[in-house]
Amino acid sequence: MCGIIGIASNKKVSTNIVNALKKLEYRGYDSAGLATIANGEINEKKCSGRVEKLEKILFQSPNEGNLGIGHVRWATHGVPNEINAHPHATSKVAIVHNGIIENYKEIIAGLNNKNLLNSETDSEVIAHLLTNYIDEGLDINKSIMRLLEKLKGAFAIGILISNENKLIAVRKGSPLAIGYGENQNYIGSDAVGLAPYTKKI
Ligand code: GLU
Repeated sequence: MCGIIGIASNKKVSTNIVNALKKLEYRGYDSAGLATIANGEINEKKCSGRVEKLEKILFQSPNEGNLGIGHVRWATHGVPNEINAHPHATSKVAIVHNGIIENYKEIIAGLNNKNLLNSETDSEVIAHLLTNYIDEGLDINKSIMRLLEKLKGAFAIGILISNENKLIAVRKGSPLAIGYGENQNYIGSDAVGLAPYTKKI
């Protein structure tokens, strides 16, 4: 079990993402990471260890962007290290995943871009499969629907789409909360991470 968070706002989100991740650390904390979209590009930071370490990295090198996702990991596939930490990203999408993708090996075997995978996780395949569908020319909604048809297992996933400046959340089997605020909306693994920001969940 891990924690995911996503924020879509009219101001910078990285500080609020880190603060929400601290609240979600009780769910597991072998590594942490976040990604934001700024000027149409995905910018990710991640590390093994606790959210405090991620916070220090961001202090040295802040992330711009009003749209972002974050993750505290509790590894099921692959050791806890920086490469296996979420988010997992391509130039087009970044994802954070809570749960297990049971058929990830089978999906990897069918990927056009499997040489680009570099983690040991079951999760990274989500970013590459979605990118495959976008590269085939499917629009985002169709790409997401194809992705959901393909994934087996339990999951809650936060997704950033760089060139559309979008944050998308999907779930099956794993919980996912949506929080509604003023000028910013949220996704989160549970209400605990969202509680400081909104009561409307
Ligand atoms: N299965 C994924 C991994 O090992 C996600 C684990 C989690 O929910 O933290 O990276």
